[in-house]
Amino acid sequence: ETITVKALAERMCINAGEVIKKLMELGTLATINQEIDADTATIVANELGFEVNIKVELDKETQLMMAEPEDEEKDLITRPPVVTIMGHVDHGKTSLLDAIRHANVTASEAGGITQHIGAYQVEHKGKKITFVDTPGHAAFTAMRARGAKVTDIAILVIAADDGVMPQTVEAINHARAAKVPIIVAINKIDKPDANPEKVKRELTEHNLIPEEWGGDTIFVEVSAKQKQNLGELLEMILLVAEIGEYKANPNRAARGTVIEAELDKGRGPVATVLVQTGTLKVGDFIIAGVAYGKVRAMMDYTGRRVSKAGPSMPVEVLGFSEVPPAGELFYTVEDEKFGKQIIDERFKKKREEELKLTAPKVSLEDLFNQIQEGQVKELGIIIKADVQGSVEAVRQSLEQIGTDEVRVNVIHGGVGAITESDIMLASASNAIVIGFNVRPDVNARNAIETEKVDIRLYRIIYDAIEDIKAAMSGLLEPEY
Ligand code: GDP
Repeated sequence: ETITVKALAERMCINAGEVIKKLMELGTLATINQEIDADTATIVANELGFEVNIKVELDKETQLMMAEPEDEEKDLITRPPVVTIMGHVDHGKTSLLDAIRHANVTASEAGGITQHIGAYQVEHKGKKITFVDTPGHAAFTAMRARGAKVTDIAILVIAADDGVMPQTVEAINHARAAKVPIIVAINKIDKPDANPEKVKRELTEHNLIPEEWGGDTIFVEVSAKQKQNLGELLEMILLVAEIGEYKANPNRAARGTVIEAELDKGRGPVATVLVQTGTLKVGDFIIAGVAYGKVRAMMDYTGRRVSKAGPSMPVEVLGFSEVPPAGELFYTVEDEKFGKQIIDERFKKKREEELKLTAPKVSLEDLFNQIQEGQVKELGIIIKADVQGSVEAVRQSLEQIGTDEVRVNVIHGGVGAITESDIMLASASNAIVIGFNVRPDVNARNAIETEKVDIRLYRIIYDAIEDIKAAMSGLLEPEY
């Protein structure tokens, strides 16, 4: 905050010369149009016998955050858990989502469920559960990379006739990185060659150990095709939800996340949003990123019009000025004018950011400075290599070189090219990616650009270890 000498003099209704004279006495040579800081202005004004009342103008975004009510315990009610299904391709994620949805459809609803939205709710024993219908950990992590935390519980689907596969391991690591509890659903148990015991044995290697073997992971054996044991799975979700105590305040301005959105020819921008706290109502002024508008109409997952949506409820929203990106947080504001000011600010910031080249989040180049400034306490690493042996060798060496200031944590390791999913995980977890004799694929290369993730490619393990050691102690040679 600054003020010019002239403006300060005008406020006090005195001649600018007097202000300049005072400043000189204080050791500052100033001209009439010079900006002086708030502290200096206060001293000058005090010396001249005035009282100063500095009003700091907060930006609208900050005002919005500060206006966020603190929920008191008594305002909170239990909300339905939000569940995401993850797992290897073809293990039955979509089938399971469909089976659960259809098993819970009452006859009267059946006709209504033609229109598909990105999430739905079911009721089991009088309690609701929300399923977010974006199978795959890539979507899950892409949302997380944008700051959205939507999922409370992850269901890890594994086909009993196939066992743990590379994307199973990825899903485990993505869920862990998000600190989301995992329920294992062993699927396809109707198949003659199903071997659930083998799946359990394989999962112990990833620290998912069933209770009957002394662990604390919940396993449910299901068949999406035969609709077998689905009730049991829902039961277990409710059990985990009870432990998690997911709560929200329904009596406040709504806030949540855009799950998916598109431009509909007839209806304009259509967004499926998940309300995470508060209650969203028709007529509310809503903002998501730089999209805004008055909620014109809302539909639940069956396509039925609703006038309001409470915590954990997914709804389709009409009325946005443009299509908001998936993963964007939404807010409602009472004052439309205020809402538009926030949007203006966001547009300005967006433009500024587009002009400025942002540095990678964590980078080896800058790691030492970031450690010194206390910004980094843990260096997250994702290792991709051509052979499993290299992954393990690097993991072991790296985990030993942590210091008191910074711990090294390998959050994911796997065989094969560096994929988009690796980059999104790195971005969401503020990690770097190391590749041995592998390269990023096309999608990964695009993601590296947009996510500003630091990736390093090596042929020799020793070089990688040396680089990271050097980076941690501030001795890394700059890359040219
Ligand atoms: P996703 O890629 O994980 O979403 O897997 P899908 O749900 O598309 O299922 C892949 C294939 O497995 C499909 O042909 C399904 O019909 C089949 N499938 C899914 N669940 C079961 C099951 O419980 N039993 C049997 N026998 N087949 C299943």
